Amino acid sequence: MEIQRTGECHSCGECCKTVNMTVVRDITIQQHGSLKELELYLSYRGIRVVGSDEKRNQLYYSMDVPCSELTSDNQCRVHDSPRKPFICHRFPSSKEDIEDIPECGYGFPARRGANWQ
Ligand code: SF4
Ligand code: SF4
Repeated sequence: MEIQRTGECHSCGECCKTVNMTVVRDITIQQHGSLKELELYLSYRGIRVVGSDEKRNQLYYSMDVPCSELTSDNQCRVHDSPRKPFICHRFPSSKEDIEDIPECGYGFPARRGANWQ
C-alpha cells in the first residue's frame, strides 16, 4: 500500500539545524571497545548516538550543525533555487525522518483509513 506524505512545512527550521549520519555498527563498536566508549568519544565532539539497530548493523548519529543557508527567522535562502540540496527537496520522505521532530508540519498515514499522524 502506498504511503503518502500529508501536511506542509511551516518553517519551524528544526530539520535544518542538525546533521544525521548512519555508520556500520559492529566495526565501529569494535574499534572503540564498547558502545559506551564510543558515546564518550563522540560526546567530546558534540555528536550523539541516537539509535542502534543490530539487525541492520547500523548506528545513527546526530550533531547540532545549523545550515548556513537558514535565516534567523527559519527561512531557507536557497529555496526554489538549483542550489537547494536534493535531500532538502525530499525531506521528510518517511515517518522515521521526523520521529524526533514532533513540531514538523508533515505526517505519514499509518494505513489507509487510520488516523493521520
Ligand atoms: S539548504 Fe535550506 S532546506 Fe536545506 S538545510 Fe539549509 S536551510 Fe534547510
Ligand atoms: S521540520 Fe518539517 S515543518 Fe519544520 S522546517 Fe523542516 S520540513 Fe518544515
